[in-house]
Amino acid sequence: MQIPSIVKSAVYTTAHVTGLSRALALRYRGCGIIFALHSIVADDAFHPDHTLRCPVGTLEWVLRRLRRQNLDIVTLDEVTERLNAPAPKPFAAFTFDDGFADNLTLALPVMEKYAAPFTVYVPTGMIARDIDAWWFGVAAWIRRHDRIELPGLGHFVCADAAGKQRTFSAIEAAIHQNFDLLPALREAITAAGIEIAPLVDREALTENQLRTLARHPLVTIGGHTTTHLNLARAPAATAKMEMAGNRKFLQDVTGQPVWHNAYPFGHAGACGAREADISRAVGFRTAVTTRPGAIFPQHRDHLHALPRICVTRDENASTLHCKLNGLSRAINSRLGDPVARM
Ligand SMILES: [Zn+2]
Repeated sequence: MQIPSIVKSAVYTTAHVTGLSRALALRYRGCGIIFALHSIVADDAFHPDHTLRCPVGTLEWVLRRLRRQNLDIVTLDEVTERLNAPAPKPFAAFTFDDGFADNLTLALPVMEKYAAPFTVYVPTGMIARDIDAWWFGVAAWIRRHDRIELPGLGHFVCADAAGKQRTFSAIEAAIHQNFDLLPALREAITAAGIEIAPLVDREALTENQLRTLARHPLVTIGGHTTTHLNLARAPAATAKMEMAGNRKFLQDVTGQPVWHNAYPFGHAGACGAREADISRAVGFRTAVTTRPGAIFPQHRDHLHALPRICVTRDENASTLHCKLNGLSRAINSRLGDPVARM
């Protein structure tokens, strides 16, 4: 079940002020953290797909805070180097999924200001404009209507801003839980007169923008499959082709080797041990999931199953404190093993 962000925020605040987060940190903090983001947007922009959007002011606030704490912000290459050291020095790494053009126009200037390196994971389909980005379709559908109906999921009231964001979260969570709902969702989006390709075209990096990003000394380009499919549901040969083909595409466009990979969706239903093996076999040095957790020295043996922590639009001192202390993993594992793997 998806925990509403307001509940999560309350849990984080309570954990912060009571000192619980600090106590849990002894076990769950790890030696580093890899942050996961998608699109960076203007502070006053409204987006139904809020789970994929971080206001530029929030990104800047997080960077300022980490710099004030003297936490090293490092590349993924440096993450692997640190993990091979006997006592890894603490670090944070930043990653952005899906190849949004705003990673160049809005995120890069802020990352430059704080001299913070970052990785952008790019699916081929975003650049080629043929990605099945159903999430863009869902957002456009919700934006245009006060009430929508989805076979198998019932109806959603989305008359105001909060309702639109709630509806997006609910549909996104439902699909992530059951990808069998996708054909009906695609049909409903098409029936509502919404075309995905123009939405992708408006938001995605162009090939030239991708090259510009790739040339920047702070930027690493990483793989994110060809079509952004749920790898775990695909035959092994398809999963391999998706990762290898995307890697080759990015290397051809940028003229640089691509060593790092991110699994689309990244949760337990979308990638597992098989995907980690394939990712390694096609030549990636690391691969990240969206399983929440800190990075521990033990991850040197699980470089293709690195957990990440999402930066959300309403990040504050308490949520960041708790995330740095590994609270997400403590909750997610029900106080189990601190080291998130596949
Ligand atoms: Zn993605």
